[in-house]
Order: sequence, then C-alpha cells, then structure tokens
Amino acid sequence: MQAEKTRATLLKKPLSAAGRTPNLLDYKAECARFDWRKAWALLDGLPGGQGYNIAHEAVDRHAAGPRAERVAIRWLGKAGERQDITYRGLSEAANRFANALYTLGVKPGERVFILMGRLPEFHAAVLGALKARCVVSPLFSAFGPEPIATRIGMGDGRVLVTTADLYRRKVEGVRPKLPGLVHVIVVGGDAPEGAGLYAWDELVEHASASFTIAPTDLEEMALLHFTSGTTGRPKGAIHVHGAVAAHHVTGLYALDLHDDDIFWCTADPGWVTGMSYGIIAPLTNGVTSIVVEAEFDAATWYSVMARERVSVWYTAPTAIRMMMRLGAAAVKDYDLSALRFLASVGEPLNPEAVVWGMEAFGLPFHDNWWQTETGGIMIANFAALPIKPGSMGLPLPGIEAAIVRRRNDGGVDVVDEPLIEGELALKKGWPSMMRGYLNEDERYRKCFSGDWYLTGDLAKRDADGYFWFVGRSDDVIKSAGHLIGPFEVESALMEHPAVAEAAVIGKPDLMVGEVVKAFVELKPGYEPNDDLRKELLGHARKRLGPAVAPKEIDFRANLPKTRSGKIMRRLLKARELGLPEGDISTLESDEK
Ligand code: AMP
Repeated sequence: MQAEKTRATLLKKPLSAAGRTPNLLDYKAECARFDWRKAWALLDGLPGGQGYNIAHEAVDRHAAGPRAERVAIRWLGKAGERQDITYRGLSEAANRFANALYTLGVKPGERVFILMGRLPEFHAAVLGALKARCVVSPLFSAFGPEPIATRIGMGDGRVLVTTADLYRRKVEGVRPKLPGLVHVIVVGGDAPEGAGLYAWDELVEHASASFTIAPTDLEEMALLHFTSGTTGRPKGAIHVHGAVAAHHVTGLYALDLHDDDIFWCTADPGWVTGMSYGIIAPLTNGVTSIVVEAEFDAATWYSVMARERVSVWYTAPTAIRMMMRLGAAAVKDYDLSALRFLASVGEPLNPEAVVWGMEAFGLPFHDNWWQTETGGIMIANFAALPIKPGSMGLPLPGIEAAIVRRRNDGGVDVVDEPLIEGELALKKGWPSMMRGYLNEDERYRKCFSGDWYLTGDLAKRDADGYFWFVGRSDDVIKSAGHLIGPFEVESALMEHPAVAEAAVIGKPDLMVGEVVKAFVELKPGYEPNDDLRKELLGHARKRLGPAVAPKEIDFRANLPKTRSGKIMRRLLKARELGLPEGDISTLESDEK
C-alpha cells in the first residue's frame, strides 16, 4: 500500500543537475558489469606495490600530484575562525603526528582513540595514526565518562587524543581504570600537566613533516568503530585498510562526488559516518570538505552553505526535521545556488522530508542506508534515478541485498515476492565489511547465515527493487541518529543505590526518532517520587553523557520478565505505546 501511494509521488529529477552528469548514469548496466577490481583500479596503492593504506589514498597521492595545493578541509571554528588546509598541508600534518607516535614508542597495531569535536586536528590524528599503521578508534565527544572508559578499556587504547576540557571533564576521573592508556595527547591550549600527558602542538612542532608509510596489507586492521547491540557491552567493529575501495566508490556513486565539489558531511566524527564520509571518502575523491565546529543551528547551517558555496551536502533526518520546523521560507534568504546534491542517512527519512527538500532547496534529499558494520553506503537513492520518497533506494553496484526470513535450523530463506517484510541481508564480500567484533568471535559469527550478513534491520523490497525500512529486529535505540544499547543505559542506572532493576526502551519521537525511556524498579526502602526521578536522571546523565542518558524515567513495582529472568523490553514498549502485547507465553513475573 505504502509503495503504491509513493509510486505516485516518484520524484523525477533533471539528469544533469547544475551542469553535472551523474557519475553513475546507467545503474542497471553498471550493476551488471561491476567488479570490485574496478574500485581498486581507481586508487593508487602504496608506491612500489607495497599494499594499500587509507591515508595514502586519502592524502598522500593527492599531495604528490596536481591536487597538492587544493583545499582539502576548510575548518570553520565556533568563534568565527577559518582555516584552510591543503592536501599537501594535511599530508604533512599527518606525517608529523605519525612521527610523534613513533617517537613515543607507539607501535603498528596499537590503538589510538580520538575524543574531540570537529577540529582540524581530528583529520591529522586519524591520518597520522593510519600512516603509522596504528588502529584508529573515534569516540563521540557527547559521551560521558562511562561509555568512554568502557570503549577505551575494551579496545585496549594506548593513546588518546583529546582536548583539555574533555580530558578534565570525562577522562581524568576514569583514568585509573585504564592502566593500558599510556599517552594522552591534548589538542589546543591549557593542556593539563602530568605523567603521560602531552601537548599536541609541542609534539608535532618537533616532529618531521616527512614520513614514509611502511608496507600495509589490505587486511590490516585500520579502524575500530564501537556500536551497540541489545545485550552486553558495546561491540568493536573491526575495519581494514582495504575498506578504502568501498569508501571511494560509494563517495563517487552514492554521493555523486565530482572533482570540484565543495562537500559538507554534517556527521560527528565520533561516529562511523563522520569517519567514512566526513573524512575518508571526500579525501580519496580529492574534493574540498567543509568542517563546521558548531553544533546544529539552521540559520548558521544555511549561511555556511551559502558562503562556502557547498555543492554536495550529506546530513541526517533529525537535522532535516528541525529545519522543516522553521519552514522552507527561512531558506529563501540565502543564495544556495551552488547546491546540487542532497543526501541523508542514519535513521528513517520521512517521505515529507524528501519532498520538503524540493520546496526549500529545489532539490530532493537522497536517502541512503548503511551501518557501522558495513563500513560504507550499501543502499541508496542515486542522482540519475527517480527517488521514491520514504524508500532507502537500491543496492550499490557490487552489493547484493535481499529480504530474508530466518529458519529454526540457522539457515535463511530469501523472500522473492515484493513487499513482504523480513530481515535485510547482504551477500558478504565487499571491501568495507567489518572483519569481526573485537574479541567476540561468537557475536560476529551470529551475524551470518551462510554467505548472508544479517543486518538486524527489518525491511521490504518493492517490485522495482527499492528497499523500504520497517524497523529494527532488536532492542537498540536510534536517537538523533545515534545508536544506543539499552544494556549500557540499564547498567549505569543500576549503579545507583536505589535501583534494583532497570529496563530501557526507545520511545518514538517526532523530532529525534526515538528518545531513551527507562523503567526502574526500586530497592526496598526507596520511595518512587519526583526527587528520586530527578536524581536518577542526573546520575545517568553524569555517567553516560546527554546523548545516551534517558530523557524519561518511570517507576514500576515489578518489571515484566520471562521465565528465564530476562526483562521483556518489548512488552514494556508495547504497553507504553498502547500496542498489542504480542506473544507473552514466556512471561513469568509481571509489572503491577
Ligand atoms: P549505525 O551503525 O550507528 O550507523 O546505525 C545503523 C542503523 O541505523 C541501521 O541498522 C538502521 O537501523 C539505521 N539506519 C541507517 N540508515 C538508515 C536509513 N536510511 N533509514 C532507516 N534507518 C537507517
């Protein structure tokens, strides 16, 4: 029904927007002939056939060629600062950091965590660490001390690059829990002093600006991205240097990057989109990226787009909905004539938002789908194809996607009929697929059935092959585009002396998709009241940070549990939303 309705509103676009012929012009033909060797052929490889290193493809090959003096990143600071860094400059800044790591005795394979907002040093730290063949793990700067310590501890972090403010507020207190964290490098002024603390500026100032990347194997671990599941601790998805082929080609096809584009990816660099498409793909494609330090504000964003002549813009549904609230008229004060391609990712994009793009910018948003584990865009609405508003689009060339149903014997059946709901699955074999969850082989193996990688998302495919997102098959929460594991939130709540048990759900929200809501059972002797509610909200916020902490807490005398003692989050959610309770045959104890 939904597909029927939206087919009528298929958005047709001019084939050549603003004089650009889309990179992917004939989708069907390209899918038929695509071979990943083609993606490798678009890259250079290390000199002398010494393998592939992401940083070489991102900066060094451009620094050694005609793009050397092109602006790689234009950083716009909160206080109105503006800094242009060329490909040559970024390559040298990364070299200095790679040399600094060497001087500190940091070895290939060791983990370098980065915890900071959108600062130019983020790029230099990522690329420098990759050149030194260290593993880079970015952290979201809105995390509280607990998620930060968990991830650095699990990932065996040896180096942390951060700012003085974040260090003091979020790391100093948990550092005793992290004996393996030997070096903390502090960007910007006011660096705290002490053992193992270094000022970035001093370190790089004394380091050489030349560095030769050692031979790097395609399958060498390059990036460690933490993501969340329903149960247990976060999962560290391992990505390798060879992923760069997928970053590059998806930037070309799904984001339609052209040589002279001014590209703006608004994602935070602490999440996978900020890494794959905020840093790597635009650099491998040799375009200029805008990096904006300030948080979202519609007027600021429009003026950045106008002033910087942004041509390709990659953003997220929560931000689009916030802009929609202010109306299309607010856009008309700005000269956005350079814009030619808009894309969105991370959460379901409402059909109205796609259409609103036409009204406000004269261009539709192209929704695309992927996840931390896939490393790069897998399904997209393409520049040369009509958009079906509400649909995530079609699989990238080189990607085979299907709707499957799990069987009891561990196998899956592929659903061929259109518009039947099932789990979205991808045939393994693309370069940016995760190579494992760090130290959790069993959890990794469970993601596969034969050759199919099971994404955990429920979706449908229509008769034209377009995929439609239905929901998650598990209990993870998507709030403002950020994936939150309920277990991590429940654990933090249970550290409070008043809490006996906690269960956390995602409650639908028109603006941010879902908000985190917790149900709490108190220990004997504690009274459920507003003061305690406030105290628990504050406790969670302090430990987890504002992006992860619950926004609402309800008290319950009992939480519904299965006979084996598992809390039934699904039942809590159904009751919260007034939906049918579904199968409750395993229900043992119930809330009152
Ligand atoms: P993450 O690993 O944090 O990037 O989150 C990945 C998850 O975000 C996916 O498994 C989906 O549940 C959701 N997601 C990403 N892109 C989309 C999209 N275009 N539409 C709907 N959900 C999406």
